[in-house]
Amino acid sequence: MRELSRRTAGFTDSVIRRMTRVSQQYGAVNLSQGFPDFDPPKEILDKLAEVSGLPHQYSITWGAANFREALARKQARYMGFPVDPEREIVVTCGSTEAMMCAMLTVCNPGDRVALFSPFYENYGADAVLSGAEPIYIPLRPPLFSFDPGELERAFQGGAKALILCNPSNPAGKVFTGEELKQIADLAIKYDAYVITDEVYEHIVYAPHKHTYIASLPGMRGRTLSCSSLSKTYSITGWRLGYIIAAPEIIETARKVHDFLTVGAAAPLQEAAVVGLNFPQSYYDGLLEIYTKKRDLFLGGLKTIGLPFTEPQGAYYVLVDISEFGYASDLEFCEHLAKRVGVGAVPGSSFFREPVKHLIRLHFAKSEDTLNLALSKLQKIREVFSKK
Ligand code: GLN
Repeated sequence: MRELSRRTAGFTDSVIRRMTRVSQQYGAVNLSQGFPDFDPPKEILDKLAEVSGLPHQYSITWGAANFREALARKQARYMGFPVDPEREIVVTCGSTEAMMCAMLTVCNPGDRVALFSPFYENYGADAVLSGAEPIYIPLRPPLFSFDPGELERAFQGGAKALILCNPSNPAGKVFTGEELKQIADLAIKYDAYVITDEVYEHIVYAPHKHTYIASLPGMRGRTLSCSSLSKTYSITGWRLGYIIAAPEIIETARKVHDFLTVGAAAPLQEAAVVGLNFPQSYYDGLLEIYTKKRDLFLGGLKTIGLPFTEPQGAYYVLVDISEFGYASDLEFCEHLAKRVGVGAVPGSSFFREPVKHLIRLHFAKSEDTLNLALSKLQKIREVFSKK
């Protein structure tokens, strides 16, 4: 047989999603792939239960009109600028498609794209699939801050776009207003685009605050704001995401999206409109729930004595596993799932640099699940000492 496409040669399957399969294989508490084990809001499920009242054929390729209208109203409220549902939104199958679609909208083969490392693993693959060459800019612990000089060199080196995950997965970093201004100034100076991934926009712990880079002066026309409903309404399996950008950008993004997937699931868009119309109290409640989970889980890790970086946003925590002396964090995670009974993602799948001493755990789980995971982690030293 003739050789298959070489496009994927540079990457493996997703390690995050592979670790879910590993967790299932060993019956481990799965704190690897980030998704909740609790139900979405009842109002959304009630709407979904009205099956015969829901649309069952294609919606308009760039999203059902009522979904876009509700989304535009909601995002305008939080982003701080008007969003035109007719010309500035494309609804996608999750932010995974939104990001891929944004990359294909912006990049020609051979273009360069800047990425902060650590980064959510899809971005590397997105760059390769769209023919773009990634340039990595390290975020340095403990605050995961970047050197503006390094970012500037990426733009000088030809980066046409920067991918900005804020709040960041896996670091839990929430970029400050000052950092975002530095990024915006450079993007404007070098006439570059910014492609955001803001799926954790509503999970930002006090006193930190989320700023949408698109809302900064000069950024509206050069930002492709990607996000999704997955984390905000606990519906990761519904695959509802979107890009918000200026009409000229959306016009191109809609063509890419149309030929990639035609459209997001029509009945799910209809049911999700209920969520998009929730009042502020829903988002306050969501944050309260996640703040409690964070405090519970991080408090447990502290008691066990596992060192970690405290997340400012999102629902991940990077835990330092140096004391266990593993050369391979992947092997560590396999042993953790098999012998301790907790699923985690090896940190190396997020870093460009050769980082092998971190694992990522997430706490988007019920208190019972988190307590179960903590009780298993309590025995981690005992289990690993019997190597
Ligand atoms: N964002 C989630 C994570 O990082 C999972 C997303 C996915 O697998 N599509 O774990």
